[in-house]
Amino acid sequence: MIEIEYRIKFEDILETKSLGKVSLRKEEEMNYWMCSECNYVLEAETPPEVCPGCHGKCLFTNVTCYIPECGGPDHLDRKLVAQRVRESKGKIK
Ligand SMILES: [Zn+2]
Repeated sequence: MIEIEYRIKFEDILETKSLGKVSLRKEEEMNYWMCSECNYVLEAETPPEVCPGCHGKCLFTNVTCYIPECGGPDHLDRKLVAQRVRESKGKIK
């Protein structure tokens, strides 16, 4: 009886571990980030503290593609980039 109980608990731990692995793998995926100030696009897990383009502490927008139309998570969402560029051009008058 005790042995069976132990086995169930061990399986629970294994399941939790594999679930943790899945979420960790997602975090390791590369994302595309676009600077809101100079529209510099870079590839990184997380947005940088200082923008390599304008060397300021800028806001970065995730412009990674998450839909099959633009190629999936390893690709840049060109539509989003184009939209961002249009928006930043509209700001400058
Ligand atoms: Zn910048």
